[in-house]
Amino acid sequence: MIVSAKKIQEIIGNLDYDFTTFTMDSFIGHVEQIRGRPIHLQAFDFKDGTFGYWVPSKTDDFIAYRDGLVYLHTVHVIMHEIGHMLMGHKPTTDVFSILRVDQLLDAGLLRPKAMTRIVPISTPFDSAAEQECELFATLVQQRVRRAQQGNSSSIARLKPYSDAIGFVD
Ligand SMILES: [Zn+2]
Repeated sequence: MIVSAKKIQEIIGNLDYDFTTFTMDSFIGHVEQIRGRPIHLQAFDFKDGTFGYWVPSKTDDFIAYRDGLVYLHTVHVIMHEIGHMLMGHKPTTDVFSILRVDQLLDAGLLRPKAMTRIVPISTPFDSAAEQECELFATLVQQRVRRAQQGNSSSIARLKPYSDAIGFVD
């Protein structure tokens, strides 16, 4: 069953984050504080269709995102992964089917001690979870846009943002 947009709005609202001052860094920092776990972002040269990846370890969260995406797409990908965290999804993707262990280690996405925590299973997040996270990422970006609408310089700044994402007023 897919979590409703209303419920996702509630989750975003409960973050108690001021979207008028949204930057990726401040939002990530806010989520880190709430969860009490550091979040590490790392661009990664995914060779398949993967855009983003969340790898939780015992103490930290690692997000790999596809290298070379335009900024707005990067924001979307990272928000999608944050959605998985905040909605309590259990990662079931076999991280090792996409990335070799040495690649993960090189990228700082894994620490040797953390690896035993990752249970490789052959199926990715189910499609309901994926849809929830797409919705989460979209709603976060909608909040950013709406929160900053009163500020004309922000509107100019966010125009390519909204255009790229295809928001409809
Ligand atoms: Zn996902």
